[in-house]
Amino acid sequence: MKLENIKKICVKCSAKCCYLDGPVVTKAEKRRILKAGFEDVFAPAGKYYYVKHKGGKCSFLRNNLCSVQSAKPLMCKIWPVYPVFKGKERRFMIFDCPLTPHLSKADIRKLEMQSKRLPKEVVIDAIANLSPAATKRLNRFNWEKRFKEALK
Ligand code: SF4
Ligand code: SF4
Repeated sequence: MKLENIKKICVKCSAKCCYLDGPVVTKAEKRRILKAGFEDVFAPAGKYYYVKHKGGKCSFLRNNLCSVQSAKPLMCKIWPVYPVFKGKERRFMIFDCPLTPHLSKADIRKLEMQSKRLPKEVVIDAIANLSPAATKRLNRFNWEKRFKEALK
């Protein structure tokens, strides 16, 4: 799918996926964001870091647009695809966001391939540490249903 078309859909949606408490990033991603000159809004969480949020909104969101596009975390790049684990087996779920129906099978396959670089702990941590409010917001994307389907 063309980038300009993705942008049109995302602008109309008002960045709902950036209202989920902020992403979890690796040390290398944090370093890349800081090196690119963005502010230090990270909180440590074990081996990884959270992007701090205010009222569930990611600190890097400006006027409903991501301000760290050039160093965007992998977790954000692969949305609406998200890895889930059945034991050691990596599977994928796809959130029902406004972009989802516009993605081709090839687009989804590409996102799944990219998502394999996301460490398992980052995936688990991000879901496990969501606030109740963010979990509620996540349900806008039908996540519980898609999560269960992916684990069947
Ligand atoms: S939820 Fe989907 S459509 Fe909305 S901003 Fe995020 S990726 Fe774009
Ligand atoms: S880093 Fe960018 S894309 Fe990711 S949640 Fe924050 S504003 Fe959204």
